[in-house]
Amino acid sequence: MSPTSPRIAIVGVAGRMGRTLVAAVEQDAQARLAAGIVEPGSSLAGADVGELAGLGKLGVAASDSLEAVVDNFDVLIDFTAPQVTLANLAFCAEHGKRIVIGTTGLSGDELAQLDDYKAQVPMVFAPNMSVGVNLTLKLLQTAAKALGDEGYDIEVIEAHHRHKVDAPSGTALKMGEVVAESLGRTLKEHGVFAREGQCGPRSDNEIGFATVRAGDIVGEHTVMFATEGERIEITHKASSRMTFAKGAVRAARWVAERSPGRYDMQDVLDIKG
Ligand code: NAD
Repeated sequence: MSPTSPRIAIVGVAGRMGRTLVAAVEQDAQARLAAGIVEPGSSLAGADVGELAGLGKLGVAASDSLEAVVDNFDVLIDFTAPQVTLANLAFCAEHGKRIVIGTTGLSGDELAQLDDYKAQVPMVFAPNMSVGVNLTLKLLQTAAKALGDEGYDIEVIEAHHRHKVDAPSGTALKMGEVVAESLGRTLKEHGVFAREGQCGPRSDNEIGFATVRAGDIVGEHTVMFATEGERIEITHKASSRMTFAKGAVRAARWVAERSPGRYDMQDVLDIKG
């Protein structure tokens, strides 16, 4: 690790992603683990973040206050919950910090609030930080352009573990958006998020979503393009949270060098356009 590597703080460090992020920062020779933040009043405050992550002592004590560690870090990585993330973004704006946001389930209004800070804060926001998923988004653009207006029905199917609180997943929505944008459609108009009872036949241009919640599934997404005679399915399966954590640490290194703006993983990976 170099002394010029960005100093990283992980908020939600006791969570599923938080603990994986500790391991990912530790594995990255160009990032330094500087702080870990737990919920205010948490009994885990003071615990070594390495021990929380099952890695043994790393010499970084979890804090239950971002304010208390403000001088220790350059980039905050936040995988928590929408309202917590928005408060942390405001904190970063106030204190000249950078942020990588992995939290999903933000409402349309909450997503718009991210933009209120883009002139002040260099931020990467991506509902899925995996390199493979972001490449899949590129493949979906190509497939949608070639097939979408030629009588292919488009459906997005996703599966996650039983603890996930939002549905459809942020990644499923992003996949649907990418497909819709490529075809001049919008999810607001063409997205169908539930079918039950006598709902009638599907319309040509709708983009349907189906959700599975079960067991310990890390994250699986399929976009189906189906017509008479054939079906194309583009699928991504995550087998470990490490894929998201590594992507987030890569984003943190990248955003450490950027001027204010709202970026996504396609910017980080330089696969836009
Ligand atoms: P989790 O419930 O295991 O962890 C969330 C953690 O945030 C908890 O430990 C909680 O105590 C902590 N937290 C809540 N409020 C806090 C506060 N004010 N200060 C500090 N910590 C606080 O959830 P998870 O499975 O780790 O997922 C977290 C989020 O990340 C979800 O929105 C999930 O959908 C998202 N996620 C995104 C990606 C991606 O690639 N972008 C991948 C996986 C999960």
